[in-house]
Amino acid sequence: MKILHVDNVSIAYDQNEVVTQASFELDKGEIGCLLGPSGCGKTTLLRAIAGFEPITHGSIKLVDTTVSNVGYTMPPEKRNIGMVFQDFALFPHLTIAENIGFGIRHLSKKDKSERIKQLLELINLQDYGSRYPHELSGGQQQRIALARGLAPKPDLLLLDEPFSSMDAELREELAREVRSILKHENITAVLVTHDQNEAFAMADSIGVINQGKLLQWGSGYELYHEPESLFVADFIGSGVFIDGEVMEGNVIKTSLASLEGISPPECKPGCKVKVLVRPDDIVHDDCSPRKAKIVSRVFRGANNLFTLEMEDGTQLLSLVHSHHNHEVGEELGIIMEFEHLVVFPDKPQ
Ligand code: ADP
Ligand code: MG
Repeated sequence: MKILHVDNVSIAYDQNEVVTQASFELDKGEIGCLLGPSGCGKTTLLRAIAGFEPITHGSIKLVDTTVSNVGYTMPPEKRNIGMVFQDFALFPHLTIAENIGFGIRHLSKKDKSERIKQLLELINLQDYGSRYPHELSGGQQQRIALARGLAPKPDLLLLDEPFSSMDAELREELAREVRSILKHENITAVLVTHDQNEAFAMADSIGVINQGKLLQWGSGYELYHEPESLFVADFIGSGVFIDGEVMEGNVIKTSLASLEGISPPECKPGCKVKVLVRPDDIVHDDCSPRKAKIVSRVFRGANNLFTLEMEDGTQLLSLVHSHHNHEVGEELGIIMEFEHLVVFPDKPQ
């Protein structure tokens, strides 16, 4: 069952359009994510879904009801939507239990305390109900904010950069934890973030936004391995683009090698193209006759990320197990293992 339909939605502040014809849908229990750089329009689109911004084109449907279209905005309190923000916005003078129960004040005392107990267990803070927010860590406060958002059993939960005040390590851990809580409750959710690792850790499907345009909607795997635009290829993961020329017979000539792969249909033989080379396409092998000079090295625990330079000056990235301890300045044996070439026309998009 579809819970959310965002259909060709545009949003403008005064005459200035900041979201342009965005479309996506979420099934019951699916976690979607809007991912993009700061200022690209993520919060604006989330606020429109919540009912805080009118839309100038398209429609938004929640379960079976059209909640926004041009000229109509159902008010936020009439939409069965929960929200969790970056700054938690917990009430400092209320206990944890009172904070969680804030949105279910209309329930009987018994139902309310049962739901609060259930949620405290779900977020693994059973013994904290009578404490106050300032007595808890940031991560614990964010779980309370999540429980408060879940308490009224909303059709849809919206989370706007909910982990951005946490340090990077805690962020991913919390994202995984929140994912398992949402999955347990079978809640449909939209997460907004600029952090792709957070998106990967939490979401089933991700939409990449740039300058108000939703460029591609898909799984993390699809965005990484099958990016449909230069922006998505560049924004997701790391990698470099090398110049190539389309030859006959699905061959692309580059300074590294002639590579086999399908070019976009508009790229005929003779066309200049850009080929995406991911760090995992360049595999270290001491026995390989092909050598590249190590220009820099970043230690990443299990791996080192090397920046390599070929004889002609082409730079590549390579991810190598960190027990291969090669130094900057050394020559590194490499082989190229392209499973699937990602090729774009060489023109501004
Ligand atoms: P994001 O959440 O992706 O960082 P926003 O949705 O907050 O981006 O902002 C998108 C664009 O809309 C930005 O250029 C921002 O300056 C502008 N904007 C956001 N809120 C308002 C507002 N209330 N009035 C006018 N412009 C706004
Ligand atoms: Mg924002």
